Amino acid sequence: MLLQSLREQVLEANLELVRRGLVLYTFGNASGISRDEGLVAIKPSGVAYDSLGPEHMVITNLNGEIVEGDLRPSSDLATHLEIYKNFPNAGGVVHTHSEFATAWAQARSPIPCLGTTHADYFHGEVPVTPPLTPQEIDSEYEKNTGLVICRYFRDRDPDAVPAVLVASHGPFCWGPTPNAAAHNAVILEAVARMAYYTMTLADAPPIARELHDKHFLRKHGRNAYYGQVKAK
Ligand SMILES: [Zn+2]
Repeated sequence: MLLQSLREQVLEANLELVRRGLVLYTFGNASGISRDEGLVAIKPSGVAYDSLGPEHMVITNLNGEIVEGDLRPSSDLATHLEIYKNFPNAGGVVHTHSEFATAWAQARSPIPCLGTTHADYFHGEVPVTPPLTPQEIDSEYEKNTGLVICRYFRDRDPDAVPAVLVASHGPFCWGPTPNAAAHNAVILEAVARMAYYTMTLADAPPIARELHDKHFLRKHGRNAYYGQVKAK
């Protein structure tokens, strides 16, 4: 069986979404990529999470052709593939309809950065894509969803804001591994919930630029100092 370790990582990322209450029934999907092989492992479409094993993950190439697997891949595969093709550091991609992040997506409102929880993970607001055109919906809908995401990030750093809200739909998140992408999806939902509650209490101002930068940059990039030094 190809890519045993990646299959297990992708399964684990999918199960994490269930454990954290981000998915209902078979909603949601996580994938991972082997950059060396140019192959993607993704959850199969419409299979109950409690019957999933690593052997059920579907292996495809970056054109979406199945390389190994008897099941159909997640219907959002083409969106994941566009993200992998355009974001070179993405090692995992996650899509859910988690409740609060989806509420912001449906409101077509970016999630403003109101505090340090958000700033720790997302260096800026979490954006909303422009709506798809009728033509983009009619033909190659999932691929066009990926393209609209990647167009937004063409002049922006997808590693600095590893999440997006697809208008009237829901969030996509990514990260260097499938586990990191799932983690970002969990944090995004928490941040979306906090922002919703905050805005019901007051018309809160965004976090100060200096505090935003401090919290993001102490965890990410060359001068990060949060956490423990990684063993060599
Ligand atoms: Zn969806």
